Amino acid sequence: LPHAIFPGRTNSAGIDLADPLVREQLLERLAALESKHWHAEPTFRSDAEGETAPITQPQDLSAEVGTRRDCTPEEVEAAIGQALLIQPGWNRLGGEKRALLLEAAADLFEEHTDEFLSLCRREAGKTLLDAVLELREAVDFLRYYAAEARRLFSAPLMLPGPTGEENRLSLAGRGVFATISPWNFPLAIFIGPAAAALAAGNTVVAKPAEQTPLIAALAVKLCHEAGIPEAVFQLLPGAGDVGQMITSDPRIAGVAFTGSTETAQAINRSLASREGPIATFIAETGGQNAMIVDSSALPEQVTRDVVSSAFQSAGQRCSALRMLYLQDDVADEMLAMIRGAFEVLEIGDPAELTTDVGPVIDPDAKAALDRHVARRKKNGRTVWQRKLPKGTGAGCFVAPTIIELDSILDLKRENFGPVLHVARFKADQLERVVDDINATGYGLTLGLHSRIDAVRELVEAKARVGNFYVNRNQIGAVVESQPFGGDGLSGTGPKAGGPHYVARFASERVVSIDT
Ligand code: GLU
Repeated sequence: LPHAIFPGRTNSAGIDLADPLVREQLLERLAALESKHWHAEPTFRSDAEGETAPITQPQDLSAEVGTRRDCTPEEVEAAIGQALLIQPGWNRLGGEKRALLLEAAADLFEEHTDEFLSLCRREAGKTLLDAVLELREAVDFLRYYAAEARRLFSAPLMLPGPTGEENRLSLAGRGVFATISPWNFPLAIFIGPAAAALAAGNTVVAKPAEQTPLIAALAVKLCHEAGIPEAVFQLLPGAGDVGQMITSDPRIAGVAFTGSTETAQAINRSLASREGPIATFIAETGGQNAMIVDSSALPEQVTRDVVSSAFQSAGQRCSALRMLYLQDDVADEMLAMIRGAFEVLEIGDPAELTTDVGPVIDPDAKAALDRHVARRKKNGRTVWQRKLPKGTGAGCFVAPTIIELDSILDLKRENFGPVLHVARFKADQLERVVDDINATGYGLTLGLHSRIDAVRELVEAKARVGNFYVNRNQIGAVVESQPFGGDGLSGTGPKAGGPHYVARFASERVVSIDT
């Protein structure tokens, strides 16, 4: 039987988009939210006004969704002060009470489904399917970490006392945790690390991605409505400078960051060079994710899984497939099928239910991806590229692309968008392929399509990756079932949505009493 730490606990059911009535009613409700103007601002504001920036839709840069009022240096300073002051009280509340508050927040998130789905699309350019999956994951994180708060923080662990003493191990919050989160999961990965830090008895100052503060502001507001005190969980909107102010503050006990490897390295340096205690650093960063397909694989299944792994969410998942390795005996046949599916992907406005590939997040992301493709074309590589449909000119759309390469080592950086690379290998080069994947230094997801046990065993034993997916797609890790996160350049661990995550946000204490 599968091991279950919480027998009977289930993840959120989500919304059944296949049901036409459910879909129709949802679309009507979303239409009513279409012109709502949102605002994100620091939880506690001083009189000095920070800068205000418009937030526009990735699919139409002329359409404003709301405004972001940035945190000033004084407000960062004061926010951390308040969070520090209230932390001992929050910690003393204990696991059960914190769990109840996080669960109340999860219920409110579900009650506000429409607003969250609307913001996922308008602020982050997500398709409705991706938006539904994102909200489910956010709710699952809240409830799973609530369960973890009960499990880990309700009673101390009694340890052996061979000489007659009593030994107790207990966990407690470390202090003020900073969370710095990405735009690609503007709700789930905003709330996940914050919920874990809160579950563990920390207070949290949360800086959402500068592109997606509005959905984060709604999440924080609902957490406050659920009863989590404002000083315990604070929103600090802003750009990179706000992040820097937070991570260089010696009062921060730990940082949970999700984003690029380069930014993680910069935060790590900043934490190392500041005064004060040694901070805990939890980073989930990028990947150079491969999938290996051998001649025993089922072509239809491969096609479905390649297309979803590479192009769902417009390739903007850190788990997404970047480098497909096809065994040469079947490469032409497989590639023809994959290209067939690729050619019929619907590209365009995520407002349309039929859209498969929406926009990328902003003009900088588009420019970097377009540059990458142009360089490969110039170097004479075989490139298949879709044409962008009419009417996409006002947004940040990147034409889905497939590029033939020799090896994953031809890729120097992560290409965070709808661009798939393909290489061929001979059966006797399998080990070499895995060595090359390891040599990138990243270690996030790896896919394998093979019906041969010995092949799976070899790849499983040799590949240094955090999440290894066999005969399925390699995105969409499910809370509790597929704890998610990588090694090396892909992150520090522990895995989000897994049984070791929350404990990393806590400090441990042992009390030994001689009887
Ligand atoms: N957990 C997500 C997945 O499995 C990816 C998270 C990310 O992109 O940061 O697809």
